[in-house]
Amino acid sequence: MRTSELFKTKKVFSFEIFPPKRTAPVDIIYQTVAQLSDLAPDFISVTYGAGGSENNTETLRIARAVKNDYGIESVAHLPSVNLTRRDVLNLLDELKAAGIKNILALRGDINPDFEPRKEFHYASDLISFIKENGDFHLIGAAYPEGHRECASIEDDIRNLKAKVDAGASQLITQLFFDNAVFYAFRERAAHAGIEVPIQAGIMPITNKKQLERMATLCGAGIPGKLRSLLDAYDDDPDGLLDAGIAYAIEQIGDLMAQGTDGVHLYTMNNPEVARRIHASTHELFGSAIAMRRG
Ligand code: FAD
Repeated sequence: MRTSELFKTKKVFSFEIFPPKRTAPVDIIYQTVAQLSDLAPDFISVTYGAGGSENNTETLRIARAVKNDYGIESVAHLPSVNLTRRDVLNLLDELKAAGIKNILALRGDINPDFEPRKEFHYASDLISFIKENGDFHLIGAAYPEGHRECASIEDDIRNLKAKVDAGASQLITQLFFDNAVFYAFRERAAHAGIEVPIQAGIMPITNKKQLERMATLCGAGIPGKLRSLLDAYDDDPDGLLDAGIAYAIEQIGDLMAQGTDGVHLYTMNNPEVARRIHASTHELFGSAIAMRRG
């Protein structure tokens, strides 16, 4: 199924996972997939590292298992900065053979130590290329606080519109901790004529170091309320975990109340955290999960 179809009947709730490091045992990720599948998300997406050092061969295997072994729709991420057209065609053949329909088409981060291939300059080039060379459903990445390379949010929104015009029929955002930022972005996107569903990317905070690393990496602002929470639980990791989960639940509740199309949860491969968030929020996402279970 094309994941954009899901938005026609319900609010969409999905998970993101990543392949284990090359040195880590591979089995654990399949246990994670099994536990996440029990929660009956609308889909699970699997990342693919643009840098080349990551365990990318697992992306396809995991996405295939999600779909074919657990019956959950899967999305394969595909960053193109270090790929040739031939590489992409080969990957499309593999995805087709695995029955995977949905691709999150990305440019990927440019590594200063690594000369990019320069065959796909932007995600929109990859989206156009895939459209011409296969029958896939394409999703694009969006940045509520603006992508860090872009001179202005307005330019970034124009570039996002180009991505949609090239063929992305669904968007998933970078993580953010301040819903007001998302609402302002959503309004700008609508003003620019972007009409495809936009899923809000939510990452539960599980520890302070991880939050600071992700916020720097993704350019996400840390609002005062969250900063106070970090300070309050400075010496209490379990307390911070509970407070981080409560913060994510509150964010999701507000997003749903404000008519957001859906939420994509960055699970960080932690099914227990996903389970706790799911338990408190799944009723907000409409009946399809229950219907599918029944
Ligand atoms: P683009 O859409 O190409 O945008 C990149 C920059 O170029 C932006 O500043 C944009 O404004 C600008 N731009 C776009 N088009 C033009 C144009 N025509 N002219 C001038 N400027 C332009 N990375 C991974 O390596 N693996 C993953 O699995 C992964 N998953 C992700 C999932 C989500 C939901 C998100 C939000 C990000 C993910 N990323 C992943 C990170 C992503 O690869 C980086 O943020 C990357 O720097 C940008 O990728 P993009 O596809 O958004 O690029």
